[in-house]
Amino acid sequence: MAELMSLSLEKAHSYTRMALPLMGHHGIPTTPMNYSIWYNYVTGENPKLKETIDIMLKHGDQFTEEKNKVLYSKFCALYDEVKIKKLQEGLTMVLITLASEVQGLSIHTEDYEKLLSRSMVLLSDDRNGEKLGVIIQDIIDETKSLVQYGKTIQQKLEQTTQDLEALQQEYEHTKKEAAKDPLTGIANRKAFMEEATQVIRDANTRSEPLALIMADIDYFKYFNDTHGHLVGDEVLKFVAKKIKSMVKGQDFVARLGGEEFVILLPRTGFAGALHVAEQIRSYFDLSELKSQTLATRLGKVTLSLGLAMYEPGETLEALIDRSDKSLYLAKEKGRNRVATQRDLETANTP
Ligand code: GH3
Ligand code: MG
Ligand code: MG
Repeated sequence: MAELMSLSLEKAHSYTRMALPLMGHHGIPTTPMNYSIWYNYVTGENPKLKETIDIMLKHGDQFTEEKNKVLYSKFCALYDEVKIKKLQEGLTMVLITLASEVQGLSIHTEDYEKLLSRSMVLLSDDRNGEKLGVIIQDIIDETKSLVQYGKTIQQKLEQTTQDLEALQQEYEHTKKEAAKDPLTGIANRKAFMEEATQVIRDANTRSEPLALIMADIDYFKYFNDTHGHLVGDEVLKFVAKKIKSMVKGQDFVARLGGEEFVILLPRTGFAGALHVAEQIRSYFDLSELKSQTLATRLGKVTLSLGLAMYEPGETLEALIDRSDKSLYLAKEKGRNRVATQRDLETANTP
């Protein structure tokens, strides 16, 4: 709370109020992506983003959808937990403001109630009706003032609702982005660890099989050296998309980092998982890649894959370790192949 208080209340709340009219002024649709750009702009926390937008404003540039996308991916797309925490703080600030507005309202209604009670006493004491005019005028004045206050508070609450909705959208969006690998758009390591933990829990409760495949592109360093890093990136995006398209909806594909991918297959036995791994391997073995940006043929890239089955009660780390060892064995055996924990057992037998 002490940390929260260090941020000025009005300031935190006003960021949202500043961002929305600015967007309206420049004709920018209030999508979560655009909101994120302009929220960042008004906070000034991202100096490079601020500088770029200021230059665009100075030149009278149009904020087209294309330009908004570039601004977003260049300056805002890298989300992390710190960002989520900030949003939560922003939300708390709005709530604190709301609470103080509601408190103001209750003070006003209390005063009004007091006036009514006072008027009733005056009325019962006023046998000749001398004070009737004054009593009525007081009630009229106070009622008008309460109506006016009610209108102000209604406007404030409507604004606050909009702020909350915008923050809510931004929060949902941030959460999604934090789980994504920025290059390929598929799940990242963090999202994989969370998903795998959940899936392992389910496999244990329901006594269902669970398979894990780890895939690594062969000789990718050489590929990068030959074709350049940008073409390498293009291939990574393609491999991610292709693997994802070759598994079922219940399966979870993530990029662990570098040129390494994982596939988590819930409710899948050894034979089924081996079939999936082999299908992926053979697809890349038989396909010739073309660079879209360079419009050149790239030859093929092959994958080595390691398969391991979850053993009831074991940890996620143990499962990852076995599929990693299987992958290493596939590499050792010459690459462009699938190895499984059964091969590990054979390899370990003297
Ligand atoms: P191996 O068959 O043993 O897996 O050989 P390898 O060359 O694929 O493996 P190594 O671990 O030696 O090198 C991995 C290479 O992957 C290094 C780097 O050039 C490339 N790489 C890792 N991350 C990225 C990336 O984000 N983009 C691109 N273009 N290349 C990457
Ligand atoms: Mg590799
Ligand atoms: Mg690797």
